[in-house]
Amino acid sequence: MLEILAAALDGATGDDLLALSMPDTYRAAYVRREDASMFEGVASADKDPRQSIQVGEVPLPELAPDEAFIAVMASSINFNTVWTSIFEPLSTFGFLDRLAKESVWGARHALDYHVIGSDASGVVLRVGSAVRNWRPGDKVTVHCNYVDDQDPSAHDDSMLAVNQRIWGFETNFGGLADIAVVKANQLMPKPAHLTWEEAAVNALCNSTSYRMLVSSNGAPVTQGDKVLVWGATGGIGSFAVQYVLNGGGTPIGVVSSEPRAEILRELGCEYIIDRRAADYRFWIDEHTQDEREWRRLGKDIRALVGDDPDTVFEHPGRQTMGASVFVCKRGGTIVTCAATTGYMIEYDNRHLWMKLKTIKGSHFSNYREAWHANQLVCEGRIVPPLSAVYDLDEVGEAAWQVHQNLAEGKLGVLCVAPTEGLGIDDHALRERVGEDRLTIFRRHR
Ligand code: NDP
Repeated sequence: MLEILAAALDGATGDDLLALSMPDTYRAAYVRREDASMFEGVASADKDPRQSIQVGEVPLPELAPDEAFIAVMASSINFNTVWTSIFEPLSTFGFLDRLAKESVWGARHALDYHVIGSDASGVVLRVGSAVRNWRPGDKVTVHCNYVDDQDPSAHDDSMLAVNQRIWGFETNFGGLADIAVVKANQLMPKPAHLTWEEAAVNALCNSTSYRMLVSSNGAPVTQGDKVLVWGATGGIGSFAVQYVLNGGGTPIGVVSSEPRAEILRELGCEYIIDRRAADYRFWIDEHTQDEREWRRLGKDIRALVGDDPDTVFEHPGRQTMGASVFVCKRGGTIVTCAATTGYMIEYDNRHLWMKLKTIKGSHFSNYREAWHANQLVCEGRIVPPLSAVYDLDEVGEAAWQVHQNLAEGKLGVLCVAPTEGLGIDDHALRERVGEDRLTIFRRHR
């Protein structure tokens, strides 16, 4: 391992790190521009990240004044890793080319390889000349909202910035690597009671669910609210369930197997629907939905909690949106951040307008929201849904698992950290939160 990375792993001081030189190249997971059409004609479900994701040495870019180099101890797989690796719905090289037109620093990103990954925990190695609040040696996690703070549109809610981007997806130099390049305003303190891999799996999904269900920018849950959570043991769903419970609401978690239902019970979610066992058939064929099946889901929810859901946490998209709009309570909100099963959505608008429902779009979170969501992890109020850990060399396999819906919670990836279990500083807090609670997803793997 490079000397500076080994020093960061060993807890070297900032001065020690500054005394060591940065390498010219670093190990990273990336996709290649030349491969962007490799899956042409292949069905979406069969496109295989194991074929498109490479792991190897890439040149270290120059650091901009508002940026930091991070020694990435661990990272995680997000669904955007899958999107990039199967080049859907677009090749992400288009995003990099657009960023390149914005500034000289932006121009660094338009390369023939795209270093992927939108999560990281690690140690600051270097900061640019304009960075005030962080120093080499700081232990951090990284959120993925990449914002141009010189753009006026970024100064109400930065997610409304016209050129807002997701780091490691719409930018280069992401977190699935030994070194990452991040803006200083992506940095947050590492939760001291967590291992590197536990700390690495939260920022993207946790912040997304926080904005959707806690922030006033989303559809905040209030005491007694009933919330239907699709994919309740998935990446964002597993945080959503925790937020509903923390906020005094009642989650109705939808999953597709009994082992996943078991995870939900342990997480504290009492009302569970196994969609595979129920065998809902919302779509009769590619063009026609079956309102009777929406009604059946609605009845099942009422049988469980005695009412319709005030909020629906929606992300599967085309397969479920018609049902989500139908079952949502009069005056309620369907909050959506994704469309995993297809983004051309169909629902019966009569059920929306006659019952005064709202569909609310949401996307990641601003820095303040991400910071607060991270703080809740730091305090042990939100636990990481880490279910398995892979090496950086195995990113393709890990992305395949997520693509095929074979993984629960989050998959961690070890980068500089050579083994699991490293990085815990606050053992007392860990004990208070409870090893059992911190490892719910791992124990059910
Ligand atoms: P995961 O793969 O971890 O979880 C998705 C869950 O969706 C699965 O656990 C599965 O649960 C459920 N699911 C899959 N297919 C269907 C279906 N046909 N009907 C109902 N449920 C289904 O992904 P994430 O939770 O990390 O992400 C979910 C989506 O959200 C992705 O599209 C991702 O790109 C997007 N996303 C968007 C963000 C944003 O900022 N806009 C941020 C984070 C994610 P089960 O089979 O058990 O029902």
